Amino acid sequence: MLEDEYQLNYFFENGFERKTCSKCGSAYWTRDPDRITCGDAPCDPYSFIGSPVFTKQYDLSQMREKFLSFFEEHNHTRVDRYPVIARWRDDIYLTIASIADFQPFVTSGMVPPPANPLTISQPCIRLPDLDSVGRSGRHLTNFEMMAHHAFNNPQKEIYWKNETVEYCDALLNDLGTKLNLNAIAIGFGFENIEYEPEQFPGLVYRIASPKIVVLIFSSGKLVVTGGKSPDDCNRGVEIVREQLEGMSLL
Ligand SMILES: [Zn+2]
Repeated sequence: MLEDEYQLNYFFENGFERKTCSKCGSAYWTRDPDRITCGDAPCDPYSFIGSPVFTKQYDLSQMREKFLSFFEEHNHTRVDRYPVIARWRDDIYLTIASIADFQPFVTSGMVPPPANPLTISQPCIRLPDLDSVGRSGRHLTNFEMMAHHAFNNPQKEIYWKNETVEYCDALLNDLGTKLNLNAIAIGFGFENIEYEPEQFPGLVYRIASPKIVVLIFSSGKLVVTGGKSPDDCNRGVEIVREQLEGMSLL
């Protein structure tokens, strides 16, 4: 894909930076000023096993419901899953992806989609990995592909890349990702904060009015000190929330 295709307004307006992976040379967007690799395998090993990126825990059905209801709240229609035997297809036996549900008749424009845009969690079966199952945690034969689909045509564009990234970012925030303290330090301005992660895991933020100090932790926990009244402390929490929301970091 041409580099131009990755130049989305959402990245420019929301504190992302375009970098080049030091291992594979691919370009990638990130909000992490310290990141030097793209994060994809094999450049980086899986870092989330035993160290989840979300602060809240979800089981499979909670995660599915969270995903589908998020997209419902954002104007998508929830559609029931399709069979795992792709009986409407003459080119594949098994439903290997959510888009397989809509090929070839919807994607070719022959019939309209059941809703547009829509959201679905489609159980998928893929067998090419069969010989590798068990070698590592990476190889599986079935999974649920949670998806949101927008079908654009020349008469009507529903949405495309910019909104897709925006939805993804909003969903991850909604699921309770940890706060990115590096990005917050840059956003707040180094003159107002102290952040030395090797010495103390929290970010220290000094607010002039009311005169308080807020400790911000990546888990989202805040400790407000120095306030003369509970109102000062409440105001401090409000200020931090407003600023983080203003920078799309919450
Ligand atoms: Zn890489």
